[in-house]
This record gives sequence, C-alpha cells and structure tokens, in this order.
Amino acid sequence: QIEGPVRVRFAPSPTGFLHIGGLRTALYNFLFARKHGGQFILRIEDTDQERYVAGAENDIIESLRWAGLTYDEGPDVGGPCGPYRQSERKALYQRYAQQLVEAGHAYYAFDTPEELEEMRRRLQKSGNPSPKYDAITRMSMRNSLTLPADEVARLLEEGVPYVIRLKVPRRETIRFYDLIRGWVSFESSEIDDQVLIKSDGMPTYHMANVVDDHLMGITHVIRGEEWLSSTPKHVLLYRYLGWEMPKMAHLPLILSPKGGKLSKRSADALGIPVLVHQYREQGYEPEALVNYLAFLGWNPGTEQEVFTLAELIEAFSLDRVRPAAVQFSLDKLKWYNQQF
Ligand code: GLU
Repeated sequence: QIEGPVRVRFAPSPTGFLHIGGLRTALYNFLFARKHGGQFILRIEDTDQERYVAGAENDIIESLRWAGLTYDEGPDVGGPCGPYRQSERKALYQRYAQQLVEAGHAYYAFDTPEELEEMRRRLQKSGNPSPKYDAITRMSMRNSLTLPADEVARLLEEGVPYVIRLKVPRRETIRFYDLIRGWVSFESSEIDDQVLIKSDGMPTYHMANVVDDHLMGITHVIRGEEWLSSTPKHVLLYRYLGWEMPKMAHLPLILSPKGGKLSKRSADALGIPVLVHQYREQGYEPEALVNYLAFLGWNPGTEQEVFTLAELIEAFSLDRVRPAAVQFSLDKLKWYNQQF
C-alpha cells in the first residue's frame, strides 16, 4: 500500500556509459513514480574523481531520453535545477559529517597509508583474513578517539591530512525492511568504520547518498542488489543524523546467459551488447528494450508480454518484483524487438 506522495531518483555514477542494468534501475524508478503520480529525479553521483569517465554523464542523459524515461527537475524539462550533481554539493556533506563528529558518531582519522597497511599486515599475520578498521582496531590507531584533544586540535590546525570515519557499533544486529526481500540483517562486526569524508574533502558514496536522499525528500530507494550490503551503513547514518529512512527496495541481479553477473567484461566476452548506446546504434526500438528490461525481475501476473511504456506504467507494481537473480537473453530481447 503506497501512502502519500512518491519521490524517487536514479543516481548513477558517471564511471562508465549507461549499461542495461542501470537502465532497468532507472526504468523501475520511473514506472513507480509515474504510476503513483510522483516525481522521478536524476542525480549524478560524481564524487569519485579518479573513476570519472568523460562523456559518461552525457551518455546517461542521452540514453534515458532515447528510452523515453523523462526525469523531473532538469533544465531541459523546464525545471529549475537538475540533474543534480554531487560534486557541486560538497559543502553540504562536510557540514553533516561535522555534525556527526560533534555528536560522537564519527571521528577524525589521521593514519597514513603506510600505517593502515601496517595494521592490515599485523592482523593478517595474527590470523585475521579480513582486517578492518573497526571498533577494536580503531583503539590502536591515530584518530580523535585515541589522541588527546589538544593533539587533535594541533593536527587539524597544521593541515595534516585526515579522513572522517563512521563509528560503527562493536556488536549490533542491524536490521532493515526491504520491500522486495523482507527483513534483512547484518552484523555490525562485519562492517568497517566507513570513511565518510576523504582526505581531499570529497564525501564517499555512502555519505553523499544518504544526505542527498534525505535532503531531496526521496521516499523510496530502488536500486540494484549490489548496494544491499551498503544499506546497514546507511541505516546507521540515518539514525545518527536523526532522519527517517526512505523505504528500500533492492532489485535482483542480472546474470549473464552463461551465469555469473552480467558485466561489461562478461558480456563483451560473449559478444553481447551491454551498453544502452550499442542498442541505440544497432537500431533497436527503445520500447522493445524497455519492455524486455521491465520483465527482468518483474512480471504483470498475466499472460500479456508486449507492453508499451504507457501500459507498463499502468501495470507496474513493486509487489511483483522478485528477489531472485534473472538471466539476460539476447534472443528474448530480439523477440521483443520484432513486436514493435
Ligand atoms: N551511485 C550509485 C550507482 O552508481 C547509486 C546507488 C544507489 O542508488 O544508491 O549505482
């Protein structure tokens, strides 16, 4: 049962051209918004400057346009702002990270890469296969929880590089409800003290994602399964910032016809196009691709297979999205392409 206005987002990182998994995520968000008379916004998560790919942002916008997935609040759709770009919102993330530090939920860490490496080596040697910066190891590192306050003040004053880390509880079962999977839980001992602000002042994905979903009034986060394990960190961030968490829905993985995750590499090896622009250039009908992707994880519960975008909006429901991984089939997609 959906109550109140719906506001969702597609939040790609411009680290590559739009692939069909991303287009499916955008599609489900779009269908959900349009079905419920809500809004669908585009947010470019471009805080990882090292992985930024020139042209990716343009490709994402072009591909969404080609597929007919119009977003709200962009200059090209008459809106005042958007697509939103995280790189333009740096000060905001820093402000909230600061708030977390002041409330004792995050801390400054001054460890050098060598010190971190040394910690990892030490733990591995003592038989810990996946060393983490966590509630136990943080006690022997150089951070604002272990150093005297005047020393911390001095380091900050001198401009010594630091990151801000989330103080993850030592022992807690973190639970959240997923609209597609039901209750999901993670042990906090499996989670590291996530870096929230990097030494260049840029936020990490987790920090920026949570701040923006809150400030942008997102009601439902609909994203790929690969983000499921990030969600416990987000649960903590919402809690410590005193914000209500949006409803969460993690979409099933898309598998390659040979099994395994469908990635650019696995698809290339099989000669399957995986980037949206490849389908565009090969003359596929956008509605056919959209129709096919709608069925990769959802079904209408009827015999009908061929849907226009308008019919998909009418028929779509998150209740009919299944959590099980789905296999991509180029033959099936070609069949859809003949129906349009
Ligand atoms: N920037 C992330 C991505 O590239 C967004 C994940 C999310 O929707 O929270 O998919």
